[in-house]
Amino acid sequence: MNVPAYHAVGIGAGPANLSLAALYQGVRSEGAAAGGGGGLALFDRQAGPAWHEALLHPGVGMQTSWLKDLVSVVDPTHPLSFLNYLVTTGRFFALLNSQFDSLPRREYQAYLAWAAQRMDGLHYGVDIDRISLTPDGFQVWAGGVPQAVAAHLVLGVGSRPVLPAALRGLPPDAVFIADELGARLAAMDGHRHEPVAVLGGGQTGCEAVVRLIGLGFTDIKWIGRGQWFKTIDDSPLANDFYRPEHQKFLQGLTLSTRRRLIEEQRHTGDALTPGAMKSLYQANYGAMLEKGAGFPARIHIGHDVTGATMDGDTVVLHCETSEQQADIPVRHAVVAMGREKTPIPFDDELRRRVDVDDHGEMIVESDCSVRWKSREGHRIYAMNRARFSHGIPDANLTLLPVRAALILNSMFDREVYRLEDSLCTVAWG
Ligand SMILES: Cc1cc2nc3c(=O)[nH]c(=O)nc-3n(C[C@H](O)[C@H](O)[C@H](O)COP(=O)(O)OP(=O)(O)OC[C@H]3O[C@@H](n4cnc5c(N)ncnc54)[C@H](O)[C@@H]3O)c2cc1C
Repeated sequence: MNVPAYHAVGIGAGPANLSLAALYQGVRSEGAAAGGGGGLALFDRQAGPAWHEALLHPGVGMQTSWLKDLVSVVDPTHPLSFLNYLVTTGRFFALLNSQFDSLPRREYQAYLAWAAQRMDGLHYGVDIDRISLTPDGFQVWAGGVPQAVAAHLVLGVGSRPVLPAALRGLPPDAVFIADELGARLAAMDGHRHEPVAVLGGGQTGCEAVVRLIGLGFTDIKWIGRGQWFKTIDDSPLANDFYRPEHQKFLQGLTLSTRRRLIEEQRHTGDALTPGAMKSLYQANYGAMLEKGAGFPARIHIGHDVTGATMDGDTVVLHCETSEQQADIPVRHAVVAMGREKTPIPFDDELRRRVDVDDHGEMIVESDCSVRWKSREGHRIYAMNRARFSHGIPDANLTLLPVRAALILNSMFDREVYRLEDSLCTVAWG
């Protein structure tokens, strides 16, 4: 079979690999010449460009500034900047004058789709289920059919929601992940005055609660383990963790020190935006005024949900609180208890060649290349996979173009993009 040959192949076409594809445009002909005619190809299992579509509830906003688009941080003159999207689609003044505190996530998704339409080599609706090694490089497969072979491989597979083991095996219309809430709302309509729980004190849980308040649910229990649901520290110092200079500093440390420091910085990113919490309080207050009754949503802090059982149609959530145990009966439980790395479909031979650390995680070098027992000239790069070498921003949109630029500089063995970040208030130590 004649398998299309590329210079590089990317698995996933989320923001990470889209940023790479956008910046690759500047070196496409060079890459194509090196890679058997094709430049960069991306494969994504989604039917078309989409960004956490299932969680795009009305009114949800970005955690990051629109300046942190696919390209601007390294190439503000790039045609796929967010600013160019706004101007060429005629939205510039309308968006500006709407004075959003945070950009609507739906707008960012529309921007990604606009950018994707202006790129070559994107293949949607292709679920890559095997990556193997051939003498020509990496071959990627879907349903037993090879889709492409390439000198280099870029992993941008992102994350997926987790349903904890203790909550599995229950009726799926009673206990389900937050990504399913939108699709299940019609079936829940008759239960608006029955108790509904949202599990998990993060942004996704908060947004699910606001959605339920907006739809007239009157007994919502937002349940989380922590003693308070932390909001992101958006101070200037906290933001200094999200810049290339800090990544460079981290690279110089031992893995154990890096892990410790990065854990300490966790709440600069893994937390709620203050705006989301404010929306919840305001929605709750507004619903209370409208109905003339109590608040529809209550926040149950310090409740660790350790399991659940069914009692007829009722889900009984078993919780441990700071000093005792509590059972909370609800009609539905919406689970927003975090995400995990999407598995990478390496075949057995390739998996054996990839080096992992003591935690079983791939070792990702400062240029985002994965350490592996390599075939000469072939490299694997990984994005959103290196929290403990590249820091919290690794899973975040802020440094996407920086990471893509690091990869291109490494892939082409020259400085395709110059990365400059020396004007920094902080002396890291
Ligand atoms: C609801 C939500 C909101 C967020 N908001 C922000 C924010 O405002 N600011 C911020 O900085 N960060 C935010 N994040 C965190 C992070 O920036 C995003 O998760 C971002 O989407 C990560 O980009 P990615 O490309 O690495 O992964 P993803 O966006 O998850 O993309 C991965 C892609 O890979 C595809 N894929 C995976 N495996 C395969 C396979 N085997 N074959 C084919 N395709 C495959 C998937 O279909 C998916 O499209 C948010 C996260 C979530 C969940």
